Amino acid sequence: MSKQNLSNYIKFLNHLTELEQKGLLTSKQKHLLKVNLTTKEQTLDKLICSFEDEVNYQNSILQYLSAIEPQTKQKCHSSGENEAQLKFRKRHNSHSKVTTFNESKLIANLDELNDQLMNIWQADAQFLFNQEINEKLRKVGELINKTTTLTPLGSQKQVNSISETHVLIDGLRSLYKDMKQHFNDYLRCHILLMDDQLTTEHLYKVLRAFMKNLVDADEVTFIINNELYTSRTEQFEDIIITQQQQQEIDLIQDKKLIDLSQCYPELGVLFQTNQYKGNYALKISNSSCIFCFHQKREKNIIIDSFLSLCNEYQFFEEVNQLAYFLLETLKQARVQCFNPLQLSHMIQDIGIAFIRCSKYIFIQKVIEMLKNRYQLSKENPSFSSDQPFVEFDFRDSLNLSIYICMDLNKKEEMNVYQQLNLSYNKYLKFIKQCYDRTTFYKFFVKSQDSLIFEFDKQGLITFVSQPITSKLADDFGINFNPQMFNASYKNMFKNTSLLQHIENQLQEQNQWKLTDSNSSYEVFMKMEEKYFKGFFVIFQQGWFRYDQKELEANQWNKLRKKIIQSETKQYLDKLEQKHPQLKNSVVQMFKPKSSQKQSLFKNFSPNFSPNHLDQRISLKESQNDRKILKTKGVNHFYSDMITDTDIEDINNLKFNILPYSCNWLEKQKVVFYILRRNNFIEDYKINETALCNFLCALEYKYNKSGNQFHNYDHGVTVMQCSHAISLEIMKTKHAHLLTQFTKFALILAALCHDVSHTGRTNTFEINSLSNLAIRYHDKSVLEQHHAATSIKMLCAPSTNIIPNFNSEEFRDFRKLFISNILFTDITEHFNLIKSFEARTQELNFGTEQDVRLMTGIIIHTSDFAGAAKPFPISKQWSTRVNTEFQEQYTLEGKFGYPQQPYMKDLDQLPIMAKSEVGFFKFIVRPLWAVMSKFVEDRLQESIENLDYTIIEWEKLMIK
Ligand SMILES: [Zn+2]
Repeated sequence: MSKQNLSNYIKFLNHLTELEQKGLLTSKQKHLLKVNLTTKEQTLDKLICSFEDEVNYQNSILQYLSAIEPQTKQKCHSSGENEAQLKFRKRHNSHSKVTTFNESKLIANLDELNDQLMNIWQADAQFLFNQEINEKLRKVGELINKTTTLTPLGSQKQVNSISETHVLIDGLRSLYKDMKQHFNDYLRCHILLMDDQLTTEHLYKVLRAFMKNLVDADEVTFIINNELYTSRTEQFEDIIITQQQQQEIDLIQDKKLIDLSQCYPELGVLFQTNQYKGNYALKISNSSCIFCFHQKREKNIIIDSFLSLCNEYQFFEEVNQLAYFLLETLKQARVQCFNPLQLSHMIQDIGIAFIRCSKYIFIQKVIEMLKNRYQLSKENPSFSSDQPFVEFDFRDSLNLSIYICMDLNKKEEMNVYQQLNLSYNKYLKFIKQCYDRTTFYKFFVKSQDSLIFEFDKQGLITFVSQPITSKLADDFGINFNPQMFNASYKNMFKNTSLLQHIENQLQEQNQWKLTDSNSSYEVFMKMEEKYFKGFFVIFQQGWFRYDQKELEANQWNKLRKKIIQSETKQYLDKLEQKHPQLKNSVVQMFKPKSSQKQSLFKNFSPNFSPNHLDQRISLKESQNDRKILKTKGVNHFYSDMITDTDIEDINNLKFNILPYSCNWLEKQKVVFYILRRNNFIEDYKINETALCNFLCALEYKYNKSGNQFHNYDHGVTVMQCSHAISLEIMKTKHAHLLTQFTKFALILAALCHDVSHTGRTNTFEINSLSNLAIRYHDKSVLEQHHAATSIKMLCAPSTNIIPNFNSEEFRDFRKLFISNILFTDITEHFNLIKSFEARTQELNFGTEQDVRLMTGIIIHTSDFAGAAKPFPISKQWSTRVNTEFQEQYTLEGKFGYPQQPYMKDLDQLPIMAKSEVGFFKFIVRPLWAVMSKFVEDRLQESIENLDYTIIEWEKLMIK
């Protein structure tokens, strides 16, 4: 390409961009032109090389386009392709006319005339028209005449409209700027969360800022389960809903935001709507909650109408999601159980959803602005036939367009139109940027090995990826306080060489630079279309720097495990710092093995003296004393179990085994029903006698030690819960992962998972040097024992219920079955949750390993099925397990083994309550929350039970 051609080429591309901005060129057309340019299509090539006439340049391009592609345009018209923003419905509005009328001449003439008139006025009160002025007036008159013939409006109006046009253009311009500013501010909410000492009070503050920034709500109120929460008092209070109130609640339509001040007098009293200007209420989907946003005043011009627009522009789901998030978070705040990073994720997700919807505010504001000046219609245009109009297509999923009575032959109207186009496109671009930014942020929120700060052009903080712990602050010399809004990097970093480094970078800000001058930090400049936008400072947390590719899969798994363990340890250390009572609580049991030993058994060395052996013998005796009778040895109850009447709640999480506690046949019926409900008996041709033998043997082995908690009741409960959760999974997008075979291995493992339990913990087995501990080398002692016992039963001919499996099937089954049982080892708790959460975030979630994690977390969650029942039932399970602990504590004392501090004095209710609070808050509830999230929030009732249970235990703790 010659030099001449190159400059033509650039000129051509510039004009394309301009045409596109004006809305005269679709991206498809632009693409076509570019293709023809690169293939050196003859006509176009000639056209480009011969262009002299700048004025007609763009028209020539358009003419060329219509010559080569007569169908393209038509296509755009008929199918409403979203690129086609501008559609001329009237033939006489052809593009070529746009430039024929030059209004700037009129303005120049008017200006000149005005100047001369002013001069004359000042010089001589009886002003005389000279020849020159007369001539100019004639010209002006001509121009005005020309204008009036082209517009339906009167000439007087036309002259006034020139200044109106400026106002309108300015309005459109600042609308974009204001909205962008507003939502930029909102993203800063995340910083407030990055508080290492995040307390409930801080959380309330964050939520307040979040609501205010997003939907301009000052307060929220909701009623759920006969409780009323109001953010004004930050309190939950018990209420009784009157009949009239209930009637009003029933009136509230689903999936619609309503104005509570109107038509709902009784609820209005309850929600104190008279204190606010706006009260927008909704029924939260899948919950019995009535939620209300309150607005104090109509001040914020950007978002005053956000909530009122949601029905019209169909973003109710987003508002519902926000309400649901607030409801859940406030409930969590109540039991003081929240994770800032998780909240940050949610805030970003909801934030981006709202930023997407905010384009409807933009559209609404545009309509309001244009309405003052132009005739406008959202429906098909009903303007009179001779009026020129344009259709502005917002390219959104609702296919929104507005028809504006506007004549693009007039320069000022073209200017308005262009500004509208420009502002709207810029706003769409802003939304996309926010989306990209959120993705970027979320990546760093997830990342454990780096800490990232983002600063804007002025050097003010806009983002921090993690709470700054005192250790981080010390390591990197950071002085950060989340309450410091608008802090600059100068206030924040104490490290002088880092500051110097940033300053240097800022000086050379026009070049993109990535530097790694120091192994502990990096500074990146942000650039966007050649302009400097701000910068990032990234701190490396050292211990995790490696090149992933160089690691083999096995090494990678080991490393991953190490990372998770170290994260868990950090988490627990922090938890204990904040909640000292956890140090001696049952939560210790859930620590991964390595950290557990150090903290608990530093001074204990196992005793090998003969005396010790005696003690173990006497322990055996004491166990024999507690032995209960074997249940009916008859194995012919199969026909008894076949019943067509359903067992109450057998397919959901409300199921309660306790009423059947003393009825062995009822329990076996439950097991049988679940096996049959899942078609296992048919699919795997389970033999009647073998099944009876198997279940009898299982029950016997479960109950032979007379454990208070770890008995057949528990086994059946865990099986039923796995069954119920599986049913929920089948309703989700993950259903395909739970094949019949996987489900069978899960549900059967759940039933068997604690068989032959000794009623003691692994720690006890290890400290007492029991045969089991010796056999399994202290590693998941009981779990391995349960798995081995079950597999043995499945291999013995009389109790083999799966003799039809071929050897390969049996191998696969055994693998899954054992893996499931091993996941019930509570020292795997944090590892399991972390791995599972990390994997579910990945796009390729669904590997064989992931399925094992999934069934692992189902069985582990189900292991706490009793705990997640309504409080009266949950309390019974707690009492059972604490009795078992207490017995162990007594034995430990008797034999001189290290005693577990959290098992001490559990017979005293306040002490047991304290232990339960920690256990529920930090172990059980988070686990159920992860499970519920995975099944798309279908376990809400259990979570609510847990929250209520925490509150109840807290009450008992105080007394
Ligand atoms: Zn269990």
